[in-house]
Amino acid sequence: MGGLSTDGADRVTPAAPVAGITAPAAARVGQVYRPVTSLGPGRRLGVWFQGCTLACPGCMSRHTWEATGGRELTVERFAAMWRAALADGLDGLTVSGGEPLEQPAALAALLAAADTERRRAGREADLLVYTGWEPEELAADPATAAALDGADAVITGRYRAGQPTRLAWRGSANQRLITRTELGRERYAPYLEHRPERPELQVRVSEGEVRVIGVPRPGDLGRIERDLVRRGVTLRETSWRP
Ligand code: SF4
Repeated sequence: MGGLSTDGADRVTPAAPVAGITAPAAARVGQVYRPVTSLGPGRRLGVWFQGCTLACPGCMSRHTWEATGGRELTVERFAAMWRAALADGLDGLTVSGGEPLEQPAALAALLAAADTERRRAGREADLLVYTGWEPEELAADPATAAALDGADAVITGRYRAGQPTRLAWRGSANQRLITRTELGRERYAPYLEHRPERPELQVRVSEGEVRVIGVPRPGDLGRIERDLVRRGVTLRETSWRP
């Protein structure tokens, strides 16, 4: 997970609200980073929502669980970052976490703003959202699930350490890549059953932290840790161990 921190002290211009969901002042996010090349096709802007109560055993991102962690990202500030990403030719937005559906109004507002900006820029940049909710949980709570309406594609389901997979961008075999729009179908069709030999992982070192972006396979994080030790970097704590 990870990347560049954001500051959210800007004035707020709420995006178009989704029915039943009041647009919020801001999202609580752990990280914003670009380019992300390991969570969706092409070069992307990545936004990691802060807060997750699903507590999947084996989660690599335990630092995103605490709802009061991270910082605020206003819709206006996000829109400016996305505008800049589009101007630089990025191919899409990936929203991960944490659990984005624990801030449904903020998620809906960011997706609406992302759509407004891409239309304004005349760009077919896709919007991908990760959620730990299972499809049947989404069906049982349509009011919350409506926050995903702006997404072109969604990757659903808990991370289940006992169900490893080689499927692109999915951490376990139960997770489903679901396309929701014409753009989503067009962009993700080649990847629905794609199994890369090795998943792409991005490793960043910044401000005393090592951040891994992508979906590692079993053993990958341990290999990265051992490689860092060989290079003289010892991790005092990690987000993937309790
Ligand atoms: S894998 Fe995702 S859904 Fe599961 S606990 Fe971690 S952040 Fe939450």
